[in-house]
Amino acid sequence: MKIVVLAGGVGGARFTRGLLHELERRAVPTDAPTEVTVVVNTGDDMWLDGLRICPDLDTVMYTLGGGINEEQGWGRPDETRRAAAEISAYGRGWSWFTLGDLDLATHIVRTDLLRTGSTLSEATAFLCRRWQPAARILPMSDQPVETHVRLAADVDEHRAGDLLHFEEWWVRYRAQAEVTEFIQVGLDQAEAAPGVLEAILDADLVILPPSNPVVSVGTILAVPGIADALRTTSAAVVGVSPIVGGSAVRGMADTCLSVIGVETSAAAVGLHYGARNAGGLLDAWLVDETDAAALPALLAAGIRSAAVPLWMRDVASTAAIAAAVLALGAGS
Ligand code: GDP
Ligand code: CA
Repeated sequence: MKIVVLAGGVGGARFTRGLLHELERRAVPTDAPTEVTVVVNTGDDMWLDGLRICPDLDTVMYTLGGGINEEQGWGRPDETRRAAAEISAYGRGWSWFTLGDLDLATHIVRTDLLRTGSTLSEATAFLCRRWQPAARILPMSDQPVETHVRLAADVDEHRAGDLLHFEEWWVRYRAQAEVTEFIQVGLDQAEAAPGVLEAILDADLVILPPSNPVVSVGTILAVPGIADALRTTSAAVVGVSPIVGGSAVRGMADTCLSVIGVETSAAAVGLHYGARNAGGLLDAWLVDETDAAALPALLAAGIRSAAVPLWMRDVASTAAIAAAVLALGAGS
């Protein structure tokens, strides 16, 4: 069996770890192991202090490789910030974005690889040799595609109408500065990274995990060819709602949804992706038990659905969500 997950950072990484746990629990020694490919959003990538930072790729790699800071959900545990303090002593760096010393090593190695001719896919595979995740991790694209927001009003040194990197809006302004649209800078020059379309077309199951539907999954789907591959693959496409009971659980996905005019509800996000039999992307959509009232509307739109607890509290509760996805994908 082959499974593809289209992941952002924390939500996608945690879900995938639960999925791998569930697959391991079910594994029959005589059977070929299930292959899992994670296609990761690179729209949050940026240059910082001369280094290429790939927040979602690193979160997925650290989470699946046992190197994640569990409390934060991103970065490394037992971090120190001595290098960042030195950089700010020179009056450089961005005060709103912290780079820990251990994490910096990853960015230095990646930047070195990119500057000496490796593609982002090659650099990612190299970094993964150390972390040995039990899944293949692919960037959505080898070309830089960076999500920006267009500001609706002046804020600090920025003017209304300016484009601001998504991470600055998200981390510095906590998504509180009003914006009118998301723009993926570089998208017109981008193509899916090697292996991405092939993995989707060759899969038995494609999963949209509970990642941000706008700036994580939405950005991956904007890469030329990826949404079409989801429409045409013979795999079942199953999504997990990142919205529980009308809220974004962790983070500020509700702000992103309102910018694109989608209500913050499990049903609205499922209908936003749409039913595959009506030109959309989903065969099935898993919602939280508290959102069971959404099932009839989803079914009427052609999306099979089920309601189960969707809080990823720990690996066991997340593995149970993955089990529900596998069941929905198998048609039950
Ligand atoms: P990011 O790149 O680190 O922001 O991570 P993702 O895009 O992969 O996932 C962020 C989204 O995951 C948030 O917007 C939440 O809606 C969702 N999320 C986080 N924790 C949970 C959870 O426990 N259950 C569900 N259903 N969704 C969650
Ligand atoms: Ca992200």
